[in-house]
Amino acid sequence: MDHTEPNEPDFGRTGYVAIAGKPNVGKSTLLNAILGQKIAAVTYRPQTTRKQQLGILTRAGEPGVSQAIFIDTPGIHEPYHLLGERMNSEAAAALEDADLILVLVDAARPPDDNDRRLAEAVAEHAPRTARLLVFNKIDQVSPESLEAHIDGFAELFTEVESIRISALRGDNLAELVDTIFARLPAGPPFFPPDQVTDLYEREISADLIREAALLHLRDEVPHSLAVRIDQFKERGDTGAYIEATLFVERDTQIGIVVGSGGEMLKRIGTHARKEIEAMSGRKVHLQLRVKVRKNWRSDPGTLSNFGFSK
Ligand code: GDP
Ligand code: MG
Repeated sequence: MDHTEPNEPDFGRTGYVAIAGKPNVGKSTLLNAILGQKIAAVTYRPQTTRKQQLGILTRAGEPGVSQAIFIDTPGIHEPYHLLGERMNSEAAAALEDADLILVLVDAARPPDDNDRRLAEAVAEHAPRTARLLVFNKIDQVSPESLEAHIDGFAELFTEVESIRISALRGDNLAELVDTIFARLPAGPPFFPPDQVTDLYEREISADLIREAALLHLRDEVPHSLAVRIDQFKERGDTGAYIEATLFVERDTQIGIVVGSGGEMLKRIGTHARKEIEAMSGRKVHLQLRVKVRKNWRSDPGTLSNFGFSK
């Protein structure tokens, strides 16, 4: 006999989860840890994540399939140029669309101006949205400092449920995921169950190349670096063939990226190739070049070309 009521469909819970936090708090690390694979670029440099990216977690269960769709927002920060402004407006849009906001903070340090800015942005763009205050990097702080910092954050983000995690070590992530699903509205999944991201492999590859460059380069270059994939071809058993261009803003930066005898570019290429191979599970042949595109971060046309929408 069928006990299902006619207007009670077997839905799980589905919704959008914005991961909000200032640069470098561990948003991308958390997303990768939750999804169990690397889809977001992670580095020790702030502002690694430039574009909004979805990460999809599907869970089978009773009464039905549930899906949490994560948005790894570019960090909210003081905009210094047009690129910064567009990153902030993407982050604001992610807050407005979310069913749940994970407010991620660095528990190893006291709140600062960027945390205050985030608190204001959340209050402005999503005053009524469900929130979860997530204290990350608990592996990096003594219990006494942790309590002091938590008091500081509690003043900024009031009336919010909180959880303490280490995205890097995996502490409390299972509890976090359970809490997230419990807060999402009932409804059927939006994406096929085996889909993990909405990004194409070539966009992820561009991000991984950029990440490799940021890891190896000195401070004067990183924020003016963009990556464009020029060719992405399948070559059967020999894997994929990828050609990409690294764009810098000034002539003087070409030498830095290429290095003496091409040694730096080679290092970046080897690093990126290994990451792309690990991500896609096959062999990759990667060819990199470097070009100058003057002041691309302030040029609307070039920004759109590189995929930063208005
Ligand atoms: P995002 O800018 O918020 O996306 O930050 P990332 O995910 O790129 O992480 C920034 C840095 O913090 C990286 O070096 C991470 O390895 C580090 N990190 C992230 N989560 C943790 C954590 O739980 N503990 C520690 N010790 N480091 C972390
Ligand atoms: Mg990031």
